[in-house]
Amino acid sequence: MTIPRTSTLLFLFLISATVLSVLPACQTETTESGQPLPGRLDYAIALHGGAGVISRDIDPEVRDGYLASLEEALTIGRDLLDAGGSSLDAVEQVIRFLEDDERYNAGRGAVFTSEGRHELDASIMDGRDLNAGAVAGVLTVRNPISLARKVMEESRHVMFAGEGAERFADMMDVERVDNSWFGTDRRRQQLERAREQAGLPDVQPFGTVGVAALDRDGNLAAGTSTGGMTNKMPGRVGDSPVIAAGTYADNNSCAVSATGHGEKFIRNAVAYQICAIMEYQGATLQEAARIVIHEKLDEGDGGIVAVDHLGNIALEFSSPGMFRGAADSEGRFDVAIWD
Ligand code: ASP
Repeated sequence: MTIPRTSTLLFLFLISATVLSVLPACQTETTESGQPLPGRLDYAIALHGGAGVISRDIDPEVRDGYLASLEEALTIGRDLLDAGGSSLDAVEQVIRFLEDDERYNAGRGAVFTSEGRHELDASIMDGRDLNAGAVAGVLTVRNPISLARKVMEESRHVMFAGEGAERFADMMDVERVDNSWFGTDRRRQQLERAREQAGLPDVQPFGTVGVAALDRDGNLAAGTSTGGMTNKMPGRVGDSPVIAAGTYADNNSCAVSATGHGEKFIRNAVAYQICAIMEYQGATLQEAARIVIHEKLDEGDGGIVAVDHLGNIALEFSSPGMFRGAADSEGRFDVAIWD
């Protein structure tokens, strides 16, 4: 049977119209050179519990305790992101958990200053709009990361320090504790050892906590919290509350939380520099982190955890160990201490 000519034309027209109407939906976003962008993961999260000299001979019970704690922290963040929560909430909630765990040098379990008290620092940053909040030298706030978030969201400033931070806390709904609540026997022994050794700040810090995360909406966030360095001089502030040094997040590039020798991390603007190398040089997150940790800093200075806008994760350190964990929407879920 022969199909009439007009029907053939109509048939071809309908097929082409259907194909053309479907095409835009199938188009992939492309880079400037026309290559398709690799897909972004739904979410990703990386955390650390400090970098430094962590002996491989530690008591297996202590080691397992750390690993279990890191897993629990990572589960909180992973589940929150999986359920559609924001990267900012994941950062705050995971850090609150780590601040309350006295294994880490943040919140309860924070190190002592040379005068035998605790001065806490924290910061948080929102990659959507570069909004940020930080507190330094806080004495009575149980979870400094939450106060940092309040600085970001409920003040017109970025950082409060010392007495001003305490007064800002008075106006906010945050839990307060006596300064002695942060102290533990283990940290007091570390102070005594440091005093005996040199009277200088301990240069092998570990226990600072930090998180970088990407959520389902494609937003990055990062945060860091610490007690600083054992035997530090009163008023000393490290990199952790300093935006661009210890914490940075920009949806165009990456989110970073650092840990290590604070003075060096400030001088090298470590967290920002990693994002800047990505943005200006087109380097991958892994490459940018490697350059800053191994070429700009000296070996042994510390490390970072970072997540980029596509959900890639970097866990880079030059110290013998870094308590860390990483999870993403593809099913990755791992924690580690050494290489
Ligand atoms: N970076 C922190 C500080 O210098 C210490 C650390 O990460 O352990 O205060």
